[in-house]
Amino acid sequence: MNTLRITDGQVLRPDGTVEDADVLVDSDEGTILDIAADVETDADETLDADGCLVMPGLVNAHCHVSMTLLRGHADDKPLMSWLQEDIWPTEAELTPEDVRIGAELGLVEMIKSGTTTFADMYFHVPDVVAAIEEAGLRARVGHGAVTIGKDDEDAWADIDESLAIAREFDGAVDGRIRTAVMPHSLTTVGEEYLREVTADAHADDIPVHYHANETTNEVDPIVDERDERPLAYAQDLGMLTADDFVAHGVHVDDEEIALLAAAGTGVVHCPASNMKLASGMAPVQKMLDAGVTVGLGTDGAASNNDLDMFDEMRDAAMLGKLASDDASAVAAPDVVQMATAGSADAIGLPGGALEVGGVADIAVVDLDAPHLTPANNLVSHLVYAARGSDVRHTLCDGTVLMRDREVLTLDESAVVDRAREAASALYDRV
Ligand SMILES: [Zn+2]
Repeated sequence: MNTLRITDGQVLRPDGTVEDADVLVDSDEGTILDIAADVETDADETLDADGCLVMPGLVNAHCHVSMTLLRGHADDKPLMSWLQEDIWPTEAELTPEDVRIGAELGLVEMIKSGTTTFADMYFHVPDVVAAIEEAGLRARVGHGAVTIGKDDEDAWADIDESLAIAREFDGAVDGRIRTAVMPHSLTTVGEEYLREVTADAHADDIPVHYHANETTNEVDPIVDERDERPLAYAQDLGMLTADDFVAHGVHVDDEEIALLAAAGTGVVHCPASNMKLASGMAPVQKMLDAGVTVGLGTDGAASNNDLDMFDEMRDAAMLGKLASDDASAVAAPDVVQMATAGSADAIGLPGGALEVGGVADIAVVDLDAPHLTPANNLVSHLVYAARGSDVRHTLCDGTVLMRDREVLTLDESAVVDRAREAASALYDRV
């Protein structure tokens, strides 16, 4: 057995407390063997965490990682015109190679900001999976399907691809890859397609992930046409189970919150995207109070514009207070919980907590910085003061992905160069 010991750090425990301890990892199994002040010293490899906080790897529960190539391409526009005028026409020009390069860029960014696990909706999924395999992260991936504006044959082809991709890649890459069927949303995919793909996915124990109630444009047409709220419609379609998870949930009413809580369906809060596209303020504290599983996600880099979960935590806390008109709402410990265990629960992947026997998905945050001094309350610092660039080491599945800020699994400068060239060629084509 190969072991790795993270030494001399302070460790964030699942109950939110912090203690001086070493962490011993089984590098072969990718699990945590021990967390204690007196861990045996003869590990095969050590990682210095002196002056650092050792925390669970962050879990980005809703992303479109390859959209890093569209970062800054179209800003300051509302959701539908942004999608229709800028994003979709540009995405139509993306080659599988572009998607691979964009994914690698996003994965380098995630590793460098302590994210070990994510959920991703996109297309050319085999190329996203290849990038994840190389980078060493854990993910739930899926092909985002859209049927509006397509004839029946093209619509079914897209839906069938989402199902085929989910079946093919579930459990791939030593189990680090899981999948979901990912119809884009309740308004961009027609009822018959949603009903059938959901039944097929669930028959194979594959969850369904989709955008829901992101803007009023995703609510009003459903209410007008069906005289029921979107999540009641989703429940009717069978898409609201404990395995399924939705992105956004901005415009949800009390009855929908009760439906989510009763069903155990996870909601992925994406505050930066919601603010940038002026989509609205999700009632996060209300959802937490109702017992809804709430995770945190960056959404794509075109609507954020980064994949830094520390940034996202700060946004979640700030926006949550505004939405509740209460400075005590969406407090720092709840936000850290959302970005770790909440996200992991929502997307149904292991991780999100440092526990003996649990997966060794870990971020080591360097506290020795002016903006983190004095180190009064480390949980509060993670949310309000720390930045992704404070992460010193990142591990996933017991493997060191970044040591002392150097990414070990991907060649950072080569990835950045390739992404620059691919983006420039893409904009020339569009
Ligand atoms: Zn999204």
